[in-house]
Amino acid sequence: MNGTGGLVYEDLEPLYDEGVIQEKVADLAGRISRDYLGKEIIVLCVLKAAAIFAADLARSLTIHSRLAFVNAASYGTATTSSGDVAISRAIDIDIMDKHVLIVDTIVDSGRTLAYLQKHYRKRRPASIRTAVLLDKRTRRTIDVQLDYVGFEIPDRFVVGYGMDFAEKYRNLPYIAALSAD
Ligand code: 5GP
Ligand code: MG
Repeated sequence: MNGTGGLVYEDLEPLYDEGVIQEKVADLAGRISRDYLGKEIIVLCVLKAAAIFAADLARSLTIHSRLAFVNAASYGTATTSSGDVAISRAIDIDIMDKHVLIVDTIVDSGRTLAYLQKHYRKRRPASIRTAVLLDKRTRRTIDVQLDYVGFEIPDRFVVGYGMDFAEKYRNLPYIAALSAD
């Protein structure tokens, strides 16, 4: 596989290489830039997993944007989320009357994003939309609005491009499934 940054692990099965990811990010950024033409958006990055995706996405936008961060942790076992979401860092800018784009790398049950959408809607932004790179649609347990979706993926536990397994692999430039999964 090309574009693996030289890091290959035997317990991982590569799914999307760096080039494929970057093409998709550029495609999403193009759509977002067209949709918000003439407007400024707040790119709200859901830490930690979305740090890499949001950084790449923001740099491909051709509209004005501000960056904000929220630390949302859902507690559960290593590879499944329990659905209890804790926000441990509020964003530091006022979102009232602003256009907010929530950015996460992956949506699974949908609980994290549904929770964040509900939480931030209360602060009366001009609009809220959500962008995700990966959608594990078959795992959805809650109806959540997704406005920009990169890839639909099967029910595999994936790592890389910001996503971890026990805090490992976030720095991989590609996305891989755990071979055991
Ligand atoms: P949800 O609330 O939609 O069930 O889960 C969303 C969060 O669970 C994501 O923000 C991510 O942190 C984590 N998550 C869900 N699926 C995966 C996966 O396949 N790999 C990794 N590393 N994290 C995942
Ligand atoms: Mg995690």
